Amino acid sequence: MLLGGAMTHNFEQLQDHILPLSRANTFEVARREWVLEAVEVSEEFDSCPCGQAIKEHCYLRNTVTGHRTYVGNVCVNRFIGIDTGTLFDGLKRIKEDPSANTNFAVIDYAEARGFLYDKEPDFLRSTARKRNSSAAQTAWKEKINRRILNQTVVQRRTRR
Ligand SMILES: [Zn+2]
Repeated sequence: MLLGGAMTHNFEQLQDHILPLSRANTFEVARREWVLEAVEVSEEFDSCPCGQAIKEHCYLRNTVTGHRTYVGNVCVNRFIGIDTGTLFDGLKRIKEDPSANTNFAVIDYAEARGFLYDKEPDFLRSTARKRNSSAAQTAWKEKINRRILNQTVVQRRTRR
């Protein structure tokens, strides 16, 4: 029996899921057809096509075939080659404390998806590293963060 992390993300299994949804016949080419559309953090576990239990879901769209699927955050980075950076760390941080500073990865993500309005992106960026915010700033930040969380944190992964 094989032990350890090597077998938990089964690349063969992931490949068997991704290739039929892609135009290219080799994974190395096929993976470049995919772009990240959305992310979600779920309270309950689901499984990645590789077989691993996951709570961090990355929704992908194939730009050639139009197919959609999802994989976990580890597989999206390791195998698909899409770098989610500190996006999930940032989401977990505001999930634990909605008045916490929003990190740059979350701000970029939320702005690109239209979750932020007017001066909100500028406000979040200018206060992203600030240690002491005024009560008004903290309240504004919490209001925005809750809206971001509404779009990204779910009980169960959304069927999309
Ligand atoms: Zn996986």
